[in-house]
Amino acid sequence: MCGVCKRVESSLAQNNPYFIHEFKHSIFVLGDHQVFKGYSLLLLKNHVRELHDMNREDYLELSDELMVATNAIVKTFSCYKMNYQSLGNMVEHVHWHLLPRYRDEKHTGKAPWEYYMDPDFKEEEFRTTSEQALSLSSQIKENL
Ligand SMILES: [Zn+2]
Repeated sequence: MCGVCKRVESSLAQNNPYFIHEFKHSIFVLGDHQVFKGYSLLLLKNHVRELHDMNREDYLELSDELMVATNAIVKTFSCYKMNYQSLGNMVEHVHWHLLPRYRDEKHTGKAPWEYYMDPDFKEEEFRTTSEQALSLSSQIKENL
């Protein structure tokens, strides 16, 4: 079972504070860090390696789920921009990282990986706690 399949399974377990919503094709969960407040993931429920391996109808419905998830984050946190990452190099299972961006960030206007290249950056300082996850996911749920 791949890492995303495991995450889908654990997200559906009862009382997972990171769980936001189950769509027809995907699971919407809060991310493990909050470098970008509201950072979340949309995970395809079925193990499919590439977007272009999906049938068109499912792909279009999944795109709609991505839009609904995005709108909930934007409405909740009033970010001015959303960055989408769907790389799949490390885990070959269709998923998106939804990175809300803000005008008052340290690296506004630059790629999200600028943070990781910053020598002063410590990701562990941004780890999402269970308590934080519960609070943020419930705020996002209210805007779905
Ligand atoms: Zn998988």
